[in-house]
Amino acid sequence: MLTVVFHKAYLTPYSTGAVETPARVRSIMGKLQGCYEVVAPRAASKDDLLRAHTPDHLTQVQLEGKAVWETAVLAAGGAICAARLTAQTQQPVFAAVRPPGHHAGRNRYGGFCFFNNMAVSLLALLHDGTVKRAAVIDFDMHRGDGTAEIFQEDARCLFLDVSSAEKEHFVETIAYFLDALPSVDIIGVSAGFDMHLKDWGGCLCNRDYHYIGRLVGETARRKASGRVFAVLEGGYLPHELGKAVYAFCRGLEGKELSDVIPSARP
Ligand SMILES: [Zn+2]
Repeated sequence: MLTVVFHKAYLTPYSTGAVETPARVRSIMGKLQGCYEVVAPRAASKDDLLRAHTPDHLTQVQLEGKAVWETAVLAAGGAICAARLTAQTQQPVFAAVRPPGHHAGRNRYGGFCFFNNMAVSLLALLHDGTVKRAAVIDFDMHRGDGTAEIFQEDARCLFLDVSSAEKEHFVETIAYFLDALPSVDIIGVSAGFDMHLKDWGGCLCNRDYHYIGRLVGETARRKASGRVFAVLEGGYLPHELGKAVYAFCRGLEGKELSDVIPSARP
C-alpha cells in the first residue's frame, strides 16, 4: 500500500513564479486524500541541508523570507520522511511537496527550487548507513541539473535524467535504464509532471504516467526490496496534476488505473 507524505504548510502562498502555486498540491491532495494514508513530515535539520548545500546557500535561502524558508525546509523534510518510510516498510511512498528541488545545486538555486529535496533525503540515508547504494530517476520535463551536480562524483548514487520530446523514446529510456539497473537499496523518483499532454511538454498522458509508475514499482520490488519513493518536482496545470499523480501512484503500487472491473460479456 502506498503512503503519501504531505504537510499543510505546502499550501503556503509565497511568490517565486506565477505558475508554482499552492493550487498544485491542492489538486494532488484532492485526488490522493481518501485513497491513501497521509503522513505529515518534520522540517529538515540544518545538518540534513548541509550534506547537500553550502552554508552560504542556506543563508541565501533565508534571505528569501520566512515563508519560503519554512516551506522549503519542510519540503526537504518531506523527502527525508518519504525515503525513511519506504526504507522501513518496503512499500512505495509519494511526497507531495512544494517547493520542488531538482534545480537546486550545492550553492545555487532557481527554477522555483531552493533545496534539493531528493539529494537531501538520499544523503541523510547514505550518511547514517540506512542505504549504501541508491538510484534516482528524474522524469521532469526539465533537467535535474542540481541533482546531477550534487551527485556527480558520488559513486553511491546512479542518476538517470530522462529527456526526450518524443513519447516512445521517453518511456523507452526509462525502461532501458531500469532493465540495466543493478540491485540497489532504494530508488528515488524526481517526479515532475510537466511533460503532460496538457502541460508545457505536451507529450505524456495519464496512462503513460501509470505505465512509468508500473515500470518503476516492478523494478523496485525486484531490485530494491520494494523501496521506492517519489518526490514532486514540476507540473503546472493544477487541473490535470492530481489525475496524473494519481495515475503514477497507482502504477507504482502495481495496481490498475481504474478499480472498475468491466463485467464479463457473454
Ligand atoms: Zn520541470
